[in-house]
Amino acid sequence: MTSVFREQLYIGGQWVPPDSGERIEVENPYTEEVFGHVPAGTAEDVNLAVSAARQAADGWASASPAERGAALGHLHQALAARAGEIAETVGRELGTPLKVAKAVQAGLPLTVLSGYAELAARASEEETIGNSLVVHEPAGVVGAITPWNYPLHQIVAKVGAALAAGCTVVLKPSEMTPLVAYLLFDAAHEAGLPAGVLNLVTGTGPVVGAAIAGHPDVDLVSFTGSTATGRAVSHAAADRIAKVSLELGGKSANVILADADLVKAVKVGVGNAFLNSGQTCTAWTRMLVHRSHYDEAVELAAKTAAGYTLGDPFDPATRLGPLASAGQRDRVRGFIERASSARLVAGGLDAPLPDTGHFVAPTVFADVDPDSELAQEEIFGPVLSIIPFGDDDEAVAIANNSRYGLAGAVWGSTDRALAVARRLRTGAVDVNGGAFNPFAPFGGYKQSGIGRELGAYGLAEFQQVKAIQR
Ligand code: NDP
Repeated sequence: MTSVFREQLYIGGQWVPPDSGERIEVENPYTEEVFGHVPAGTAEDVNLAVSAARQAADGWASASPAERGAALGHLHQALAARAGEIAETVGRELGTPLKVAKAVQAGLPLTVLSGYAELAARASEEETIGNSLVVHEPAGVVGAITPWNYPLHQIVAKVGAALAAGCTVVLKPSEMTPLVAYLLFDAAHEAGLPAGVLNLVTGTGPVVGAAIAGHPDVDLVSFTGSTATGRAVSHAAADRIAKVSLELGGKSANVILADADLVKAVKVGVGNAFLNSGQTCTAWTRMLVHRSHYDEAVELAAKTAAGYTLGDPFDPATRLGPLASAGQRDRVRGFIERASSARLVAGGLDAPLPDTGHFVAPTVFADVDPDSELAQEEIFGPVLSIIPFGDDDEAVAIANNSRYGLAGAVWGSTDRALAVARRLRTGAVDVNGGAFNPFAPFGGYKQSGIGRELGAYGLAEFQQVKAIQR
């Protein structure tokens, strides 16, 4: 496959040379070879991009909702034409198996973007409360900082909503997966998005990300990534009281009640925990199982994990790709190494692995202490913890024993499962395998974040509300 060298940034509707000649190399985590590079942007590049976004802000905000919807429709069309290239690019820079990359890494953001092309028309809806006319206005210039695990989806969830709301955007994608972001900007250029409405500055978090978060002319910072970095971004924005929305980590519980369809609950649960090699913020990494079928669940989960085929993301037989980087692999291995009190039932550090690539074998621990590191920390790799419980109250207590609150699942008879779902302190819960809904609000309780993405709730994050009294 060919190398991909991108030498420019996208600012003010043009491809422009970066401030410095420094570059960031992009590695293929399966071959462990560098196959591309992008500019390492600087704070000066951020200044130019923010200034371009500011200049474009009034024009874009005053465009009619129909015009903004049409522009997003054209962007969607141009991006859809690149769907195959998107899946292959994410397969190469992240290691997602191609089948999953096509459905999730390319298909999902296209669905989300087409939704925002439609929602743009409703962004200016007004309401009357007594003698007040309540209007929704664009929040202004948005700084978007995104991670590497679902790189285009996480970008589009911000960019689609912000543009639909009438905001202009400066984006910093992850330095590990920047190439797919370039495909979005190729599409934006082709679609003729007005100059300055959408700007790209690639680079590292501590340089470009920090410059965006702390920039005096950025009105709103929308961040997805780790809780630790989310905290730093919040601090940087706090000095000027800029609005921040955060999509952070998770440690979601998959609660399998006494009257659940056990086989389905365990199989779907393992699949969820290991999707994208476990590098998913909503991954159900804690499987809570009623004692009456605990042993059976452990056996089934171990067998399901052992059945995964690891290998080349471009081989159709591959079910589990490598982790995104050597650093990420070592971090995950560290959690497995330190998990001495739990019972290893599948995978582990000695399991066979492909010859190349940053792999960790799909790993299952049983009898995990709910207070242990395994059960409390976001591991972000293919590591599942199984924990027994005695009754529904105990299940809820264990599930909520987390500083995170992003997602979760409950399996059991409908009314009972719904009752438990309502008691979970998380932003989303799937009952009996309910499918992910890309138009429903997505976000976290507790340290999983602030605000919501996706659909109309996601759009509202990028709006100010004004009351006009008459
Ligand atoms: P980070 O949170 O550090 O990265 C997310 C984004 O923030 C990247 O674009 C990063 O830049 C940027 N960033 C880093 N430092 C700063 C800063 N000081 N100011 C502004 N932006 C910054 O995640 P990591 O990639 O380091 O992953 C570490 C762990 O975080 C994972 O193992 C996982 O547990 C968790 N994580 C969770 C995610 C989720 O969706 N819940 C997503 C990604 C990670 P850069 O390009 O330099 O990395």
